[in-house]
Formats: sequence, C-alpha cells, structure tokens
Amino acid sequence: MNKPQPPSTSNFIKQVIEADLASGKHKTIVTRFPPEPNGYLHFGHAKSICLNFGLAREYGGRCNLRFDDTNPEKEEQEYVDSIIDTVKWLVPEFDGKALYASDYFDFMYQAAEHLAGAGLAYVDSQSAEEMSRSRGDFTHPGTDSPFRSRTPEENLDLLRRMKAGEFADGAHVLRARIDLRSPNINLRDPVLYRIKKATHHRTGDKWCIYPMYTYAHPLEDAVEGITHSLCTLEFEDQRPFYDWLLNHLADGGLLKRPLPQQIEFARLNLTHTVLSKRKLIELVEGKYVDGWDDPRMPTLAGARRRGYTPEGFWRFAERIGVSKANQTVDLTILEDCMREHLNEIAPRRMAVLDPIRLVIENYPEGKEEMLEVPNHPQKPEWGKRPVPFSRELWIEREDFTEKPPKGYFRLFPGNKVRLRYAYVVECVGYDMATKSVRCNYIEGTRSGTPGSDAVKVKGNVHWASAKRARAAPVVLYDRLFRIDQPEGVDHLNPESKRLVTAQLEPALDITERETFQFERHGYFSSGDDHFKRATTLRDSWAASFTGGRATEPAAT
Ligand code: ATP
Ligand code: MG
Repeated sequence: MNKPQPPSTSNFIKQVIEADLASGKHKTIVTRFPPEPNGYLHFGHAKSICLNFGLAREYGGRCNLRFDDTNPEKEEQEYVDSIIDTVKWLVPEFDGKALYASDYFDFMYQAAEHLAGAGLAYVDSQSAEEMSRSRGDFTHPGTDSPFRSRTPEENLDLLRRMKAGEFADGAHVLRARIDLRSPNINLRDPVLYRIKKATHHRTGDKWCIYPMYTYAHPLEDAVEGITHSLCTLEFEDQRPFYDWLLNHLADGGLLKRPLPQQIEFARLNLTHTVLSKRKLIELVEGKYVDGWDDPRMPTLAGARRRGYTPEGFWRFAERIGVSKANQTVDLTILEDCMREHLNEIAPRRMAVLDPIRLVIENYPEGKEEMLEVPNHPQKPEWGKRPVPFSRELWIEREDFTEKPPKGYFRLFPGNKVRLRYAYVVECVGYDMATKSVRCNYIEGTRSGTPGSDAVKVKGNVHWASAKRARAAPVVLYDRLFRIDQPEGVDHLNPESKRLVTAQLEPALDITERETFQFERHGYFSSGDDHFKRATTLRDSWAASFTGGRATEPAAT
C-alpha cells in the first residue's frame, strides 16, 4: 500500500520537452544516461539516472544506458557489470541492455574523414606544449598552428596513416578547424582524435587512434537519436562545439535532423559526502572502507547493501528537482526520503542493542504470556505477531539510571514506565549481584486490555524476553564524514561503523534479506549474517534529545 505520490513538478527541461512535442519537432523523446565505466555509480549518478529515465517514463519515451567507453586506458569490465546491475536495481523498467560508444568507432572515424575532406578538420603535428601555448587563454587569443593550412588531401592522407598505425603516440592529432581567436576556448580548434596505442576493453587492438570525449559524445547522441541530451553545467561551454559538429555533419548528409539538443542542469553536491571518483577511490584503496559497496560509501552499490531503496532515491530526485544553479543538498534530505519509504515498507520488531537484564520480581517464574503485537501501527492488514513476555527481559542499558537527569522519563528507582505492548512496571532499584534492574509490574495494565491506561506514565521502553531472545550481531552505520564539507580522509567520522551484539525478539530472522524497523532505533536490514542499520528513526545529527519520551502505542 503506497502513499500516493505528489504529482511530479515541472522544470525547465520538461518545458523544453513539452514544447518540442507540441510543435511536432519530436514525436517521442529519447534520453540517455552515459557513464564512463571507470568506477562505481554514486549518489550523483542517481540524480542523473532518475532524471533521464524519469523523463522517458513520464513522456512515454526511451532512455538508453550507454557506456561512454572511448578512453581505452581507464575502463574495466568490472565497472560495466556493476553499473548495469545498479541501473537495473534503480530502474525497474530498464531491460538490462546497454549500448557502447565504442560500437560507433567506425562511424566516428568516417565522420572525421568527412570533416578532413571538407576542410573542417586538419592534422596538427605540433607538440602538446606548442599546442597548449598557441591555444592562448582567457585573456589572450590563440594563434594558428603552422599546420593549419594543410590541404584536405594532405589531411586525409595523414589521418589514414594515423589510423594505420604509422605514427607514434603524440606525433599528430586531428583538430577541428574553427577559430583560434574565439572567446570560447572550447572553439579554438579542439582536438578530435589522438594516437594511442592501447588495447580497448571491447575493441581490443583494432584501433590505435581514439576520439576525444568532446568529439565522441555528440556523435553518440546523434547516432542513437537522442532528442534531449542532459548534462551537468560544466558542459555549457561545450554546447557551441556540440552544435557546430552535429550541424556540419547533418549538412554533409551524415546525420539526420532534428539533431539532439544539449541541456545543462546543476550536478548534485551533498553535505557529509564526497562524490568525486578520485576521492572515492582514495577511500577504497586506502582501505578506509570495506570496498566500493561498503554500506557507508555514497555509492549505489553501498546504499543497496545498507538497505536504502530505489524508491527512496526516486523520491529524493523528485524532491531536490533540477536547477540551473549549483547548490549543495543536505544529506538529511536523502536520509529523510529513505526513512519515509522504509517507514511504509518495514515491519516493526523489537531489538535491544545494548542489553541489560530487567527482572520483574512479582511476575511468576516460569510464566509466559504471548502478546499480540501489530506488525505495523498504520497497517492493520499486516496483522500481528506473537511476542513472548516473561519475568526476565532484556532492556536497553540507557533506559535505566540510578540518578536521573532532569527530563529523564525512563527507568529509575520509584518511576513507572510502560514496557511496550505489555505492562506498566515500577522500578525498585538495581541488583549488583545479578547485574539486573529490578521492578514490579502492575496488574491490569497490559496493553490492549480494558483499563490498561489507567496508570499514566511518560516513558515507554522496548524489551525482549531473556529466555527467548536471540543474540545477533548488528552493525550500526553512521555518516562516513563528520563535517559538512569534507575534503577527504582527514574528515572521516571515526564512529561510522560500530558492531554490537543485540538481543532480538524471536520473530526476527537474520537469514532472510529483509528490512525491519527496530522500534525506537531505526531501520535495519538483514543479510550477510548480521543486521545493518540503514538509518535512524530521526535525524540524529540535528541536536535533539527526546529523553526517551514516547507515547503508548495505540491499543488495538
Ligand atoms: P566523476 O566526476 O565522479 O568522475 P563523472 O561525471 O565523470 O563523475 P560519468 O560516468 O562521466 O561520471 O557520469 C555519467 C553521467 O552522470 C553524466 O551524464 C554526468 O553528467 C552524470 N553525473 C555524474 N556526477 C553527477 C552529479 N554529481 N550530479 C548529477 N549528475 C551527475
Ligand atoms: Mg565523466
């Protein structure tokens, strides 16, 4: 039973799409998510995936997963597999079929020959330093390369020989012939192809020249019939080249119109997180975390193990929206989205994470009552489960103190609390010999029975039957970084992972992969022979202390 979602809100990208559909420019839309397979997907990629697949979903179009695998040296099959797996997880309608930019190498090369033959590209034989010097900078225009005036025939000949492997790496490059005095540095004859005698993860040794990203990307979009090519703001200055290239190729008959339109949006930055691949690699390689899918990592593989849900990410994407201005989003928003969704799907259970014994001295030894406890307070249709209650229980260590601070409503000598779903008990003290908290229960106060709320209490404490509880390892994950804007390993939170041995109510099964709410503690997922905390119930990083005050669960 899902809560109805608010209608998705409009934004500047949807306005462009709706105008293009209304004018008949496009009958249907095609978007793409184009990762480079050089790392694992992170939370920033989730924004892009939800945006691109979400638009395709909303307008009945298509979204391609395309590997931008034009750089032979940094790419690996391990990353390809992990990315496909992750996109399948996040996008239920994705069929798992990926496209590869390297499949278009032939077309890209053909387009390069066309440009060279049409006088729109030339082979430059300057050294890398000469080229970078003659490109100028923001305040100085560039100057033409001495090789800029090569004829189309010379350029075609050199390009073919580059492809044939006649030259060493770096001997020549193919450049677009645009304008070295353009105020936009990206238009100062950008490099289209370089020589690189490297083995590619899919094309092997077939090629020794490889297209540059700025050249390859527009072509990939055009070949696939992408209608709206959404990218992050850094690419805004590339848009004139994107259009220059595609329009010349369409004029030359190599591409069909309408051409794809590049639209930029602000990338996601999150507090308490690093999202750059370089910094994530540092965490993995320095063994500060247990691999890419460590539940603390801001990777989608890590989030999945931690118990975060795809629906939580979709909510998050919808909530933060898209904008044209870079902003940093508080990690709390993501955590809240996860909490909200987990709240809807997670059955309730009781688990004591830091157990001490409670002995109910006036409760008969050997007696056991089976209490009927709701699986979800807002979902009566989920039914109830039996929870055994007896004389000796486990409770949280922090739910008892001999000297209560002001505002403490839990167990201390003389105070009464409700044992959740069970009786009101009055604390009588602590027994050093047996290391147990002592109390007496008050007859007639059993939850759900008539008159059970006659005795008013402010504290409400969860518990597990000492005889029937199961001890189990639970890992308490917390934020990986302790400050808002972490730079890297210096800012790691030393308490981001804590292992405890908890006492679980018997209905909890560690072997099935499932997520539960441990009452008062948060959402926990089983699997890997332990429970992991996905999130706390409230934002524990906001300064708030509730003193353990809780209301009596609705008697049903
Ligand atoms: P990094 O800078 O971490 O290496 P990247 O942008 O190089 O990331 P790609 O694999 O090239 O990683 O990214 C694939 C797609 O995901 C691109 O379309 C990119 O715009 C998008 N993307 C990457 N990071 C973010 C982010 N933080 N917010 C939104 N979109 C992102
Ligand atoms: Mg990139």
